[in-house]
Amino acid sequence: MKTCGTCGRLVLDYAEFPCPNPGDDKGVIIRCKFCRENENTYSCPECGFTGP
Ligand SMILES: [Zn+2]
Ligand SMILES: [Zn+2]
Repeated sequence: MKTCGTCGRLVLDYAEFPCPNPGDDKGVIIRCKFCRENENTYSCPECGFTGP
């Protein structure tokens, strides 16, 4: 389980992808299925980048 970066819940079903900010090569974004389906905004824990 990991913590969803959007809703903060512990989730089993999630997507994990690198931060889309080209200046950030460390950030990893975790977004759960619920947040993905609802197109909730995510934010990168490293650089604060937000995206749909
Ligand atoms: Zn979530
Ligand atoms: Zn980032």
